[in-house]
Amino acid sequence: MAIRNIRKDTDEILRKKSREVKSIDNKIRELVLDMLDTMYKNDGVGLAAPQVGMLKRIIVYDIGDGPKVMINPVITKCSGKQSEEEGCLSSPNVFGIVDRPAVVHVKAFDIDGKEISVKAKELEAIVICHETDHLDGVLFLDKAYNLYTATPEEIAAAKEESKKEVSKNSRKKKTNKRKTK
Ligand code: ZN
Repeated sequence: MAIRNIRKDTDEILRKKSREVKSIDNKIRELVLDMLDTMYKNDGVGLAAPQVGMLKRIIVYDIGDGPKVMINPVITKCSGKQSEEEGCLSSPNVFGIVDRPAVVHVKAFDIDGKEISVKAKELEAIVICHETDHLDGVLFLDKAYNLYTATPEEIAAAKEESKKEVSKNSRKKKTNKRKTK
């Protein structure tokens, strides 16, 4: 396992469309593990393969209940609307509000090649939409409004605040403020 370099939003690879994974071999499994390592190392809640320079349709995320892997994810149904603040590991310190569906239904394959169906809402729905957008070369910056760049002090304060929240009640649902994908 290894930490991979995260591509920044000026990198044109992030504007390309990722290709479907044809077979889940050792190379793909290694990439998935590296993506998880890289996401955790950077305090992200989600990561898409193009963010580490691989144009493959793979996303990983962890909204606080363990690592999730989706290979060739397809959103089959969306409903409702939610508007929350988002950030992105490829756009450090930039945040903005994005309108997303409230609920998404997704079909994908897990790391063992088993087909999975997920109905996601709240933060999980946001993360899945944000990450699957990456697979089509779309960045949250394209959709966000009220964009701003947080100062290092604000970032540090937000991290402290979320640490306190987690230690206060580790089961309490985490806020999705300042979570970078
Ligand atoms: Zn992102």
